[in-house]
Amino acid sequence: MLVLKNMENSKNVCQRCCVRCNAHLAGVASNIILSSTEVNLLQSPKRVFTFSIPLKKDSGELIFLNGYRVQYNDALGPTKGGIRFHPEVNLEEVNTLSFLMTLKCSLAGLPFGGAKGGVAIDPYTLSKAELERLSRGYIREVHNFIGPDIDIPAPDVNTDEQVMAWMVDEYSKIKGKFIPAVITGKPLELGGSLGRNISTSLGGCFILKKLLEILDINQKDLRIAIQGFGNVGSNMAKILDEWGYKIVAVSDQNKGFYNEEGLNIKKILHSQDKKGFLPDDFEGVNIISNEKLLTLDCDILVPAAVCCQINKENADKVKASIVLEMANDPILIEADSILFSKGIKVVPDILANSGGVIVSYFEWIQNSSNDYWTEKKVFKKLEEKITKAFLDVWEESQKNNLGLRISAHKLAIQRILTAEKLRGNLT
Ligand code: GLU
Repeated sequence: MLVLKNMENSKNVCQRCCVRCNAHLAGVASNIILSSTEVNLLQSPKRVFTFSIPLKKDSGELIFLNGYRVQYNDALGPTKGGIRFHPEVNLEEVNTLSFLMTLKCSLAGLPFGGAKGGVAIDPYTLSKAELERLSRGYIREVHNFIGPDIDIPAPDVNTDEQVMAWMVDEYSKIKGKFIPAVITGKPLELGGSLGRNISTSLGGCFILKKLLEILDINQKDLRIAIQGFGNVGSNMAKILDEWGYKIVAVSDQNKGFYNEEGLNIKKILHSQDKKGFLPDDFEGVNIISNEKLLTLDCDILVPAAVCCQINKENADKVKASIVLEMANDPILIEADSILFSKGIKVVPDILANSGGVIVSYFEWIQNSSNDYWTEKKVFKKLEEKITKAFLDVWEESQKNNLGLRISAHKLAIQRILTAEKLRGNLT
């Protein structure tokens, strides 16, 4: 198996993500002939930044947090990807996620390379003032290495439009002028795009609609289960419910609701608490665990929570015939082959959840041109772009009798290698 450089012998790593990343590269290598130089290039992140961010707590205490930014590959354009605040963030994870961002941007046909950043901190332990100082502190560490034509950050796990607002403000103060195109996922008032907040979910819904159309499946009879009720999962439930789909299960990190006749999504959305959690009691539902949700008798399963949820222990029990990966990395590689052998269609994360970065691209265009689009235009262009990416992958998988994931990775890697060749970086 190929092993990504600087992942070997690393401690404190989400080994499952790293193994998956390596295994996919190995999978692609066995399906398209890659020269050893090409493999070396794909295994080498272009620029890796690690830094210590001083953070003054409200108590006056000064603490130092580990921060990261990996600009993995810039063959297709400036690098692009979110910044996450999470206690388990580490260099290897950021590296893997930046590799996946490189593939995601390439597959969507965006003029961007891939990047990712993060800080090892639980932001829920911080006050609002501390969170603001952290967001500004992050930018002070990287401002020389990011920019609208260099590297463009965005929100990711536990970072939202308020964090982006502080970041764009800090960058602009340092540079002496307002530069909105340096960061996407901003609030509307600071140059954000209409529709960005639901773009990841809406993109996934457009793909599902197209896939069902191709498979000639009537949406009326389908039962959908969604794991995760954060921004992506809850908006996915809201949109699909509005489109007339039947959602039989949803869950947050603590528990799930199930009703085989379909859930009242509008009512559930209304009764979420301030942090977005499902209410303790809810009429007419069975309370189920997150694990149970994954193996429910349903037609479409949407893992929209965190990584590594479907593994070799539970893969065999998955009953859905379509799995739409709205989270990053929810299926382990060994589970992926089990699902494939059962004939389950898995729409991979780099395709299914690419709606977010696609609308980030639209935001960057709007900031650069000062021409701001209507929501209708954003959604129309999102549908066009994500549907094209999906059809490319579908065609590739049909032509070669391959799974959707390997087909997506293959197309994305081919585009990156072509760009590298045209630049003269590969022979
Ligand atoms: N964090 C999102 C992702 O993983 C969005 C990245 C972006 O918009 O740059 O796709």
